[in-house]
Amino acid sequence: TVLAELLASRIKDVPDYPKPGVLFKDIAPLLADAEAFGALTRALADRAAALGATKVVGLEARGFVLAAPAAVAAGLGFVPIRKKGKLPGEVFARSYDLEYGSATLEVQCDAFAPGERVLVVDDVLATGGTLGASLDLVREAGALLAGVVVLMELSFLPGRERLLPHLAGAPLEAL
Ligand code: IMP
Repeated sequence: TVLAELLASRIKDVPDYPKPGVLFKDIAPLLADAEAFGALTRALADRAAALGATKVVGLEARGFVLAAPAAVAAGLGFVPIRKKGKLPGEVFARSYDLEYGSATLEVQCDAFAPGERVLVVDDVLATGGTLGASLDLVREAGALLAGVVVLMELSFLPGRERLLPHLAGAPLEAL
């Protein structure tokens, strides 16, 4: 599509970052381009409306940058899912495996009112660990998962497959 081509044209491939053998997708050029960032924001806001979302959730840190303006454009509130130890008060926590070790994500226990429908947004779906833990957190916090939208999906990794059980039927779209 025209949107996908515009977005893809503003994403930079950086070889051997953050370590040798990894091809990093840098979205900084996209964020710096008003036309591309605006088009991405409107596409995310349109998805939020189409899915009947009542909140947009972003994942630390690049997910925040995409989800927050989309929430505002859709007339919705924004909820952060953060790395361990950053959110005050009572939190739900989920850990997931990394290549070496593990990571923990958290959401505030009172983030959602009963019956809320959530759109979860992140920049990249790679192995699916980050989104898998996040989708579980959304449900644990009492919200209904309306859908997931990522800017890009690294289709040479089994991220979508790993996410399937966490999606429980909700749609996953890569722009
Ligand atoms: P996963 O948990 O393996 O799916 O990795 C997804 C998370 O890692 C996302 O929150 C991304 O922000 C980050 N990530 C993984 N690969 C890249 C990349 O090539 N560019 C930017 N972020 C990435």
